[in-house]
Amino acid sequence: MGLVVVWAVTNLVSLGKASDAILRENYRSILAAENMVDALERQDSGVLLYVGGSEKGIRQFRENESVFLQWLARAKDNITIPGEGELVQTIEASYAKYRQEFSAQTDLRDASKPPLRLPYYQETLFPLFAEVLESCIRLRNLNEETMYNASLKAGDVANRAIWSTVFVAASALMVALIFSLLLAERIVRPLRRFMEASRKISAGDYAVQVAVETDDELGRLAGEFNQMAAQLGQYHEMNIDQIISEKNKGEAILSSIEDGLVVFDTALKVTGINPAGRRMLDLEFSEVTTLVCDDILPSPNVREMIRRTVEKGVQPDVPEEQRIITLQKADRSLHYHFSVTPIWGRDRNLSGIVLLLRDVTRLKEVERLKSEFIMAASHELRTPLTGMGMSVDLLLEHAAQSLAEKDRELLQAAHEEVHRMKALVNDLLDLSKIEAGKIELQFEQVAVQTLFENVQDVFKGQAEMKQVKLTSELAGDLPQVRADVNKVTWVLTNLISNALRYVGQDGQIQIAAKKIGPHVHLSVRDDGPGIPPEYQSKIFQKFVQVKGRQSGGTGLGLAICKEIVRAHGGAIWVESSPGQGSTFTFTLPEAR
Ligand code: ADP
Repeated sequence: MGLVVVWAVTNLVSLGKASDAILRENYRSILAAENMVDALERQDSGVLLYVGGSEKGIRQFRENESVFLQWLARAKDNITIPGEGELVQTIEASYAKYRQEFSAQTDLRDASKPPLRLPYYQETLFPLFAEVLESCIRLRNLNEETMYNASLKAGDVANRAIWSTVFVAASALMVALIFSLLLAERIVRPLRRFMEASRKISAGDYAVQVAVETDDELGRLAGEFNQMAAQLGQYHEMNIDQIISEKNKGEAILSSIEDGLVVFDTALKVTGINPAGRRMLDLEFSEVTTLVCDDILPSPNVREMIRRTVEKGVQPDVPEEQRIITLQKADRSLHYHFSVTPIWGRDRNLSGIVLLLRDVTRLKEVERLKSEFIMAASHELRTPLTGMGMSVDLLLEHAAQSLAEKDRELLQAAHEEVHRMKALVNDLLDLSKIEAGKIELQFEQVAVQTLFENVQDVFKGQAEMKQVKLTSELAGDLPQVRADVNKVTWVLTNLISNALRYVGQDGQIQIAAKKIGPHVHLSVRDDGPGIPPEYQSKIFQKFVQVKGRQSGGTGLGLAICKEIVRAHGGAIWVESSPGQGSTFTFTLPEAR
């Protein structure tokens, strides 16, 4: 483009210069010729005036003579075109003749002689005048012609300049195009190689290399690229080794653990199972991956739990005792505790479920043996304890007066301890019987009001004695419940006697019932000292008592309550904050 601009400017400048010089010079010559013609014509008029007898004619001739000569001098100074010099010389010569002729007639004039005659003018002066005039007109025409030719030439030059500029511009454009194509190809070719190499790397071919051909930026980029590909290859190798070793590690751990593990996808298809799991569920290795949850798990409990976990993404809150499945194997019943854990994918999407099965058959067996032993032991202990109790009672009744004060105190202490032991043995016996399933519940439909009235009658006297207000509150639309009246009364009795034990004088105990869902909630609320949070989940276990509160109880009451409520298909819990009292609530199913 620079070249084109320089070319065009040069052309324009030279064109301008050429036409300007020609026009200026020719214009000067034309002007001189014109003025000479003017002066000459006025001289001719002067001559005619003189011929007519006026002296003014001579003056006019002389005045215009100097004008003519002035312009002639200018024309002489401005000879620029061929033939112009000769023409000016001709003018000068013929004008000199014209002047001489006129001067001869006027300068040497005799005043007596008559002035110039017309015939003389016509024969001598006029032809001379006509010759000068014609030469002047030729000078003018010559210059005009030259000017016209110069303008034609300038047009030609301009045309040539236009075309040559177009040609130069087109050539420059072609050269630029060729250069840009070559340059683009030079840049794009290596980029194509980079693209190809990147594609191979993403397809897993890390051995790919881009040729380093030049020493410029692209060459250096190729070097860096090759280094990056080599490092990626190393990382890939490392990752694969790591993944394989992690997988082997995982498999070794899964194979070595005693608990059964089954992995399901979200469509509940089995995607993995460890040897312990196969053993527990009696499955062959080959058939495992074609099975779904319903094929391998006979218990609806666990299937339901897996399904709910897949739907909600979290393991449902199910009581521990409902997390046991029992499978029959040969002539044995095997018990497994199960738990379900969701597996999360990359974007926190559920990708599967792990079912963990723990064999608790031995634990169950030990539990059963323990319950049987406690049952047998407490049964055996009851008879001698009853005997001992009766003896101590009789002794206290009949021989107390004859004993020394200290001995009597000892006897009284023995009496209390024997009765505590009897209560403990009775509670233990009851609990072990329920745990071993030895107690058959007598279910019947009963109104909660009846249950409340029973216990209120029992505790009326005690409450009055301790000046405790015992009230009951029943929701209006309470349905009947399905329950063993004696056992539920036992639970209520135990809860109210606990409450009575802990409320202070003028305390308040309220028993209440309301329906929530398919269950009726029965609660015993007191305004006693409350139960510390760390004990609230533990006090339903055997022998757990809040430290520092001597109640004289066995620590078995709430454990028995829990077993009875569980046998009814319900649950029991406590809500309490220390110093604010406690509310024990248990649920019973609505009678249908
Ligand atoms: P115990 O025979 O000791 O009463 P329980 O199983 O009935 O055995 O109760 C366990 C423990 O729970 C009690 O020792 C007591 O510390 C605490 N407890 C039970 N009921 C109440 C209550 N209403 N207020 C405060 N503490 C209570």
